[in-house]
Amino acid sequence: MKVQTINVEYTKNHKPKPDWKNLEFGRVFTDHMFSMDYTEEKGWHDPQIVPYQNLTLNPAAITFHYGQTVFEGLKAYVTANGDVQLFRPEKNFTRLNHSNDRLCIPHIDEELALEALKKLLTIEKDWIPTEEGTSLYIRPFIIATEPYLGVAPSKQYKFMIILSPVGAYYKEGINPVKIAVENKYVRAVLGGTGEAKTAGNYAASLMAQEIVEKDGFAQVLWLDGVEKKYIEEVGSMNVFFKINGEIITPKLNGSILDGVTRDSVIQLLKSWDIPIVERRIAMREIAEAHENGTLEEAFGTGTAAVISPIGQLTWEEKDYTINDGKTGKIARKLYDTLTGIQYGKVEDPFNWTIKVDME
Ligand SMILES: *Cc1c(COP(=O)(O)O)cnc(C)c1O
Repeated sequence: MKVQTINVEYTKNHKPKPDWKNLEFGRVFTDHMFSMDYTEEKGWHDPQIVPYQNLTLNPAAITFHYGQTVFEGLKAYVTANGDVQLFRPEKNFTRLNHSNDRLCIPHIDEELALEALKKLLTIEKDWIPTEEGTSLYIRPFIIATEPYLGVAPSKQYKFMIILSPVGAYYKEGINPVKIAVENKYVRAVLGGTGEAKTAGNYAASLMAQEIVEKDGFAQVLWLDGVEKKYIEEVGSMNVFFKINGEIITPKLNGSILDGVTRDSVIQLLKSWDIPIVERRIAMREIAEAHENGTLEEAFGTGTAAVISPIGQLTWEEKDYTINDGKTGKIARKLYDTLTGIQYGKVEDPFNWTIKVDME
């Protein structure tokens, strides 16, 4: 592929920086953004960094009507020495292309995308928060921009990267949450788009989430879309259980998202010689393990929260309290190790982090 130069147009109006101590998730955006366009004639072209601004799109753009769009989520972290690090970013761009395949969107050049991200980070370095536990959330995404109301893959696209400084996910350390097992709605089905990070999956999940929130639950635990028997994910996180000393997580089956945190957790557990098995898990099995006292821990994994311990599951009107509603030892160790690696506080034996040259 031809090397493409990334043009930069600097902003003349720097926005005021937010209150670093009270950052919310995903509400504040930095001064610049990356964008690149696709047409059939030119392929992906015009990679550029421009001032953060609204887009002008034709109201008939396919993305608005048929949801032909994909996204990613990762973070940049500042270490104690002031270095800026990314955590396995190549996995996110590979996964973006995987999602592209499912949504009939042309592949992006993964190397160019990573180069563009690094360049954007150097320009926005003053926007990367340094307070304990904070980070810069990175949202790469692609939208179908062709104005056409026929149901067909778009012939035009826009790939963008926007950045948002975010606060510590947990203000007082990691706290176990209450989860409702969802028996009516489903997130994804085999043969559907569950494995892709595409907008429709999240639109489809809103209603179940809204309903359980009213009853004080943080998230729903999704069961499989056919029999509603087998565990898939928790909210927009992958899920792990510890039963009788062994960790289990649902095997990737096509309707479960292949999380970077999930993969990192599996590799860490293996390196610690803790038994970890990927297989189909029935909700009934979790309930039985609880009843016979062998359900020791449960937690979700994802970039935003890293590790989210589950203190209680509610299924068919019955409450199952896990580990007395406290954070389990494995969840704690995984959280400390992963965040330790991300913030450069502990050794990174897997070479997961890459340093961004800020020159
Ligand atoms: C993004 C996402 C995850 C977590 O993936 P990470 O790469 O670990 O952030 C899990 N499930 C769903 C549905 C997701 O969208």
